[in-house]
Amino acid sequence: MSHYDVVVIGAGPSGLSCGATLAEMGLDTLILDEQIHPGGQIYRNVESTSAAQLEFFGEDYAQGRAIVQRFRKSNAKYKGGATVWQVEADGDICYSCEGASHHITANYIVIATGAMERPVPLQGWTLPGVLGAGAANNLAKEAGLSPEGKVVICGSGPLLLLEASLLIKKGVQIEAILDTTPLIPSLSVVKNLPRALLRTDFLLKGLKILWDIKKSKIPYLRGVSGLKMIGQDNVEQVECTHRGKKVTIPTNVALLHFGVIPNTHMMRQVGCELHWNPELRYWHPVCDNWGRTNHDRVFVAGDGSYVSGAVAAGLKGELTGLEIAKSLGIISTIARDEIAKPITAQITKDKHPRPFIDAMYAPRAGQYTFDNETVVCRCENVTVGEIREVISQGAHDPNEIKIITRAGMGPCQGRMCGSAINEILAEELDSTPDEVGYLTIRPPLKGVPLGEIAAMKFTQASGPADLFKNQK
Ligand SMILES: Cc1cc2nc3c(=O)[nH]c(=O)nc-3n(C[C@H](O)[C@H](O)[C@H](O)COP(=O)(O)OP(=O)(O)OC[C@H]3O[C@@H](n4cnc5c(N)ncnc54)[C@H](O)[C@@H]3O)c2cc1C
Repeated sequence: MSHYDVVVIGAGPSGLSCGATLAEMGLDTLILDEQIHPGGQIYRNVESTSAAQLEFFGEDYAQGRAIVQRFRKSNAKYKGGATVWQVEADGDICYSCEGASHHITANYIVIATGAMERPVPLQGWTLPGVLGAGAANNLAKEAGLSPEGKVVICGSGPLLLLEASLLIKKGVQIEAILDTTPLIPSLSVVKNLPRALLRTDFLLKGLKILWDIKKSKIPYLRGVSGLKMIGQDNVEQVECTHRGKKVTIPTNVALLHFGVIPNTHMMRQVGCELHWNPELRYWHPVCDNWGRTNHDRVFVAGDGSYVSGAVAAGLKGELTGLEIAKSLGIISTIARDEIAKPITAQITKDKHPRPFIDAMYAPRAGQYTFDNETVVCRCENVTVGEIREVISQGAHDPNEIKIITRAGMGPCQGRMCGSAINEILAEELDSTPDEVGYLTIRPPLKGVPLGEIAAMKFTQASGPADLFKNQK
């Protein structure tokens, strides 16, 4: 069993910056990521992509190369293709890699598992041909693939529009962009605009994307509602309501996106305290500016702690690295604060547009009002109606719903349905998601063959039971 000063889980901008900061100070640091190459979501494959791809995805993507290069130059170790499936707050980690599972330990663990696309169940969202806009972006970066045939892009958020502009540039046949963002901005949008204007560069990027969409003459319907994916063996049409009228658009591919939310399952499994944000309608860990959680040895960094974008994620990773180095006695508090000062100032500057973006693309009212036929748990094929039925019979805890319906028990372990179950239960009980509580997340976090666990080697001092000692 190997032991490290620090194990960082996730090799996006936050994990890479944190890992490099620690390794540059001489700490024995390992970064694990289920992707083969470092880069995370935004900088996926940035190290080995072609010059043409680098240019195609633009400057925001290309700057990931410098982050990966700095990380490679530091003495941090990287293990790609390593899926972490169990973490304990006192430093035990299990991961699966190339058909074998391994148990390692660390003095400190940094959870830098980033964000995920907000899963919003819709009628027909399980049909072949329907996928996340972020997933389409990943396929383009990873394998140079673009959707073929007629494409409809639906949902809300800056990444939706960014993906639309990239597909337009690629020459993909886009039939329509169906934007669910409310037509009339909330008071909060207006209130946060002056601060956003401090970052004109950022706003100009957004305006350029909107201009590219307008120039393309692709129908861009704003303020749509009631999205439905319709088809038999594949999505055949997308239906929605626009200005009070039903609109139907034939398609082969529908790309959905409703913003991103912190990927908190690992934090839940470790026992990190989480907070419900009612405006953004997502859970995020309770942590300080250094990423320190309620567990002394567990830190969180990047979008997993709060969605702030790639630049802030990298900077937050650096702060976490500094705090751990201080905790291990490598640097003094004064040195930590001195190095952190410009980083913190940069984070503040980077975050100027964030409240405006958050308010602009906050989940709209009614987003979680579902038809009974809509599938919530894709793995176990459980519908909204089935969940409502067990709630009406007295299941008032997400775990009871899980036990009775199997929603959340499939291969994704509730990552796709957990927040929807949370919302449905809250709505049915006329309560709030934080009051009704979330699914209890247990190991394995991600599917792992039992044979792999059985074949793991343990010392006399630590047996398999020790790996799950703190699980409820
Ligand atoms: C699908 C998707 C596409 C995106 N595309 C863009 C884009 O094009 N442009 C943009 O500006 N922003 C994009 N974003 C937002 C962007 O990802 C973030 O702002 C930024 O990447 C956050 O960095 P991070 O280091 O916090 O996490 P991430 O970059 O998300 O990195 C987290 C890493 O953790 C790894 N991981 C997670 N769980 C495990 C586990 N159990 N075991 C091992 N490894 C694990 C993941 O493989 C991932 O590499 C995207 C987000 C998503 C969800």
